[in-house]
Amino acid sequence: MSKDDDIPPVPTPEEISRKLSEFMKASFGDSVSFSTMTDDSPFQTEDFSEEDEGSKNEKADRFSSIFDFDYFPRDIKAHLDRYVIRQEEAKKVLSIAVCDHYNHAKSFKRLEEERPEKARQVEFQKQNVIIVGPTGVGKTYLVKHIAELIGVPFVKADATKFSETGYVGADVDDLVRELVRKADGDVELAEYGIVYIDEVDKVATRGEMIGRDVSGRGVQTTLLKLMEETEVTLRNPNDIQSQMQAMFDQGGGGKTSKNTISTRHILFIVSGAFSGLEKIMHERLREGTIGFGASNSITSMDTSSFGEVETQDFIEFGFEAEFIGRLPVRVVCEHLEKEDLLEIMKNSEGSLIRQYEREFEAYGINAKFKKSALEMIAERAAREKTGARGLMTVCERILRDFKFQLPGTSLTEISIDRDLVENPEKALLHFKELDEGFSGSKIISELNSFRRQFSEQHGVELVFDQKAMKALEELSQQRNLSVMKLCSDLFRDFQYGMKLIQNNTGEKVFKLSCDAVDDPDAYLSALVVDSYPAHMRNESLEKNATEDLPTEDRAESDV
Ligand code: ADP
Repeated sequence: MSKDDDIPPVPTPEEISRKLSEFMKASFGDSVSFSTMTDDSPFQTEDFSEEDEGSKNEKADRFSSIFDFDYFPRDIKAHLDRYVIRQEEAKKVLSIAVCDHYNHAKSFKRLEEERPEKARQVEFQKQNVIIVGPTGVGKTYLVKHIAELIGVPFVKADATKFSETGYVGADVDDLVRELVRKADGDVELAEYGIVYIDEVDKVATRGEMIGRDVSGRGVQTTLLKLMEETEVTLRNPNDIQSQMQAMFDQGGGGKTSKNTISTRHILFIVSGAFSGLEKIMHERLREGTIGFGASNSITSMDTSSFGEVETQDFIEFGFEAEFIGRLPVRVVCEHLEKEDLLEIMKNSEGSLIRQYEREFEAYGINAKFKKSALEMIAERAAREKTGARGLMTVCERILRDFKFQLPGTSLTEISIDRDLVENPEKALLHFKELDEGFSGSKIISELNSFRRQFSEQHGVELVFDQKAMKALEELSQQRNLSVMKLCSDLFRDFQYGMKLIQNNTGEKVFKLSCDAVDDPDAYLSALVVDSYPAHMRNESLEKNATEDLPTEDRAESDV
């Protein structure tokens, strides 16, 4: 097919989009908004880094992980227990809901392949979940870890961002499209994803919320459609650029792929603080029983009081009966006390403290949090009233200057104790004085190069204390060797011993004192001996004694 020469080349969708945008602005000014879908999604999507480089095989693996789903609720709870402290009821309820949901998905898929007409008749009420709870207590954290474990795409959004038309705020349907993006364009996988909507209490339509009422109800109706079962077009009808792309794709004569996504198997989890819900529930109970006189001092909800909440309380709160009816699984995430925050720091696998330790470690600083410091941090964080988020706020406030000023100094160890938390400026000053007392700034950069090289080659982190650095500096002057050369000589075979230790203890960071510089071999063998369990050390000592060999002083004193 030949084209006339004077027909300009076909513009790209981006060019068309830009031209249209200019035209709209010139014709209507700012009164009409024109938007296109970009990568700056309005949603807070959780990053599954492995998805980014996801190959086809990887996708197939992830996909099969849904259809080979064989977890028991207790497996899911055990996984959540590693990360999420407290919230026992929520962990249990979510584990059951997720198992029911994905077991159904699995059997439906099988039936669909074997007897498609039968599959369409299967009735199933989706186990969409509503989580009630204040901010920062682990609602998102729970859902994120479930999605990660099962290997399904996960999208989170705030209900406050939506409007019913999608014209002013974000379009509700975009949530589902976002799942496709998270699934690397794999529509079928996205159809089994998890959509998590926070702040859903803000689309309630209570009397006092005049002005929000209309759009609140509208958003509920739109969400309701999604939660039930609907087909969402893959391309946003308001998004001219993507519509153009669709036309181009079709015009290209290529195979037309699926252009809608079904929400039938998408699991919806909504949450919110629902402040006032407990009051509504208490008022209902009061009316039904003693008439009046119940306490007014109602704070946040716990599992036992939530047990009393009924559907009509949610309706009274401002939800449409149909909307709340589509959320049959209801659970509360409880307020976190100081002790819980302490527990989070000490025992959650995702503890912020571990994160701080790793961050300092990257600068060669071994940061050790003392119990006294953790207690104080927990106490202050509890006062913030933002759940576990308060921990980050408090730690950041205390440690920000340490992170800025200590990297690159001679300091290789900091102890974070009560004194430091109470008076960070004073502690920082003390560390800086220690550093100034050490004149080896030249050796630090050389030593860091050696450490970096060692870590890259052997996957082991070496940390030298100040005395060790001093000893290295002196020795390098005596022997007239660069620190790099000296270290390469002294610690030539360290990786072998350290691998042994790593096998025994899992340790990856090794702190070296000046003894390591004075006698590297003896130092390393003492470390290796120490890394074995006591009974094995005993056996080896006994063996040494019977063979009448000189035993090492250090090993003896340790036993
Ligand atoms: P929200 O309840 O507002 O959704 P998040 O789940 O986003 O709060 O919590 C914020 C962060 O606080 C999480 O990423 C996690 O690190 C920490 N966190 C919150 N609650 C808990 C908990 N119960 N156990 C362990 N960590 C928690």
